[in-house]
Amino acid sequence: MRETDVVIIGGGHNGLVCAFYLARTGLKVTVLERREVVGGAAVTEEFHPGFRNSTASYTVSLLNPKVIREMDLGRHGLKVVERRMSNFLPLNGRDYLCVGGGRTKQEVAKFSAPDAERLDAYGERLDRIADVLRELVLATPPNVVEGSFVDAIPELLKSVSIGNKLSKLDTTGRRDLLALFSQSAGDWLDGWFESDPIKAAYGFDGVVGAFASPYTPGTAYVLLHHVFGEVNGNKGAWGHAIGGMGAITQAMARACAEQGVEIVTGQGVREVLVKQGRAVGVATEAGDVIMADRVVSNIHPRLLFQKLVDPALLPADFNERMQRYRSGSGTFRMNVALSELPKFACHPDAGDHLTAGIIIAPSLAYMERAYIDARLTGWSKQPIVEMLIPSTLDDTLAPPGQHVASLFCQHVQPELSDGRSWDQHRDEVADLMIDTVDAMAPGFKASVVGRLALTPLDLERRFGLVGGDIFHGQLTLDQLFSARPTLGHGAYRAPIPGLYLCGSGTHPGGGVTGAPGHNAAREILRDGKR
Ligand SMILES: Cc1cc2nc3c(=O)[nH]c(=O)nc-3n(C[C@H](O)[C@H](O)[C@H](O)COP(=O)(O)OP(=O)(O)OC[C@H]3O[C@@H](n4cnc5c(N)ncnc54)[C@H](O)[C@@H]3O)c2cc1C
Repeated sequence: MRETDVVIIGGGHNGLVCAFYLARTGLKVTVLERREVVGGAAVTEEFHPGFRNSTASYTVSLLNPKVIREMDLGRHGLKVVERRMSNFLPLNGRDYLCVGGGRTKQEVAKFSAPDAERLDAYGERLDRIADVLRELVLATPPNVVEGSFVDAIPELLKSVSIGNKLSKLDTTGRRDLLALFSQSAGDWLDGWFESDPIKAAYGFDGVVGAFASPYTPGTAYVLLHHVFGEVNGNKGAWGHAIGGMGAITQAMARACAEQGVEIVTGQGVREVLVKQGRAVGVATEAGDVIMADRVVSNIHPRLLFQKLVDPALLPADFNERMQRYRSGSGTFRMNVALSELPKFACHPDAGDHLTAGIIIAPSLAYMERAYIDARLTGWSKQPIVEMLIPSTLDDTLAPPGQHVASLFCQHVQPELSDGRSWDQHRDEVADLMIDTVDAMAPGFKASVVGRLALTPLDLERRFGLVGGDIFHGQLTLDQLFSARPTLGHGAYRAPIPGLYLCGSGTHPGGGVTGAPGHNAAREILRDGKR
C-alpha cells in the first residue's frame, strides 16, 4: 500500500494538465495510466516500420493558450506549425475548392459571387460568438445544487458573471448565439450561403465526431466547438504539432515531471476505494493499493461510474442518468504509410493544398446521405473522409521521400447493428475508405505500403472511448456546460466527496484543449482551501 495526496486515473492530456496544476502547489500527485504510453487520444505511435503518426486526434487548434503558456510547453519541446492552406475539397475529377491561404474569396467566387461577398460577414459574426465561448472555456459552469439558498449563492454569482459576458453581445449576436446552440449546421449554413462547396467545407466541422447528419439539430454547436481554437495566436486556425499529437502530451509529461508528478504507465485502475462515503484511493488491476486524499478521474464518465465505482455507492437517479449518457461517434480512423504523395485528378500538381485538411465530401447533401446510409446499413458506401498528410509539414514522421496520412472517416455505426461485430468488417471498411480517396486521387491505393485501421470498437478498446466517442460523450445541449456529464455534477465533482472528474466528459468537452484538466485542478484546490 502506498500513499499520495492526489491520485489521477488516466494519463490523457487532461490528466496531465490537472496533475501539473496540482503539483505546482506542492501536492504529491501520482498519475496511473493503463497504456504503456501517456497521452490517451493525443499520442504518436509507429504503425508501420519506419512510419509514425498521431494515432487518434491528428490536428491542433483547441489547445488552450493559457495552458500552453503556464506549462511552458514550448520549452518542453512543443512546436506547432500552421497549415499553409486550411482546407482543400476535391469535388470531382475537374473542380475543387481551396479554403485559407488568402485564397478563400476568389475560390468561393468560382461557384457563387454572392457567397464570396458574404464570407467576411460570416467570419466576423461567427468570431464574435467564438470569442464568448473562448471566455467560458476556462470557467467552471454554475452547478445546479439542491438544498439551502446559501448553497446556491456561489452558483448564482457564477451565472451572473456568465450573463455579463453574454450581455456584451448585441441583439444580432444573441440571435446568432441562439441559432448556433439550437439549429443544425446545415440550417445555419443554408441561411448564409447558396453554393455547395463552401457549405461542405464549413459544415464538415458540424459532423466531426458526431454520429449525425449536418441537418441534425444541435450540429451547429459542434461546428462552433471546432472554431474556438487558435494556432500561435491566429484565431480559428488549425495546425500541426511537430512529431504529431504525442509531442503535445510528451511535453506535458516533461512539465509534470519538473513539478515532481509521478507518472506510472502500464497501471490500469480497477476500483475507486470509498470509505465512510469518501473516496480514499484506488486499487490497480495489478492488485496494488494507492491511498490518496483525493481521487481524480481522467477517464470517460461511464467507465468511471459503471466500472470503477460500486453503483450501490451512487444515487439511483445518478446511475440512471449515466446509463443514458450518450456516447458514440460515427468515426473510423486510419493511418496510412505512403510511398508517394497523392495526385488529385482535379489538382494534380504538388502544392499547399497537400498540407490542408483534404475533405472528400462535396456537399451537405452528400454528408446527410452518408449518415442515413450508415444509420441503415452499418456504414456509408460513400463516406466522408478528411485526409491530412502531416509529413508535408514534418519530416520526423516518415522515411525521406515517403509520407504518412491520417484518414478521419465518417459515417459508421458506433456499434454495428444486427449482431455484427466490427472485428468482422474492419478490413472491408478500410478498403472502402482507401478506394474513396483513390477515386479522387487515382494511384493513391497503389501508394499505400502500410496501414492501421481503427473501428469505433478499436477506439473503445485502445483508448477507453465508449462507442468510439472521440469527445467522451456527445456534444449535445443536454450534455454540455452545467450538464456535462450531468446536471448537478457539472463542476468537476462526483457524487462521492473526494472524487473528481477532469476529462473530456466535463466542461468544455472533447478536443485537445487542456481546459477540463485546468478547471478541475482549480476546483480541487478550492475545496482544499475550504
Ligand atoms: C479518432 C479521434 C480523432 C480526434 N481528432 C481530434 C483532433 O484532430 N483535434 C482535437 O483537438 N481533438 C481530437 N479528438 C478529440 C481528443 O483527442 C480527445 O477529446 C482528447 O484527447 C481526450 O483527452 P482526455 O485527456 O480527456 O482523455 P483521453 O485522451 O481519453 O485519456 C484518458 C486516459 O485514461 C486512460 N485510462 C482509461 N481507463 C483507465 C483505467 N482504468 N486506469 C488507468 N487509465 C485508464 C486511457 O488509456 C487514456 O490514456 C479526436 C479523438 C479521436 C478518438
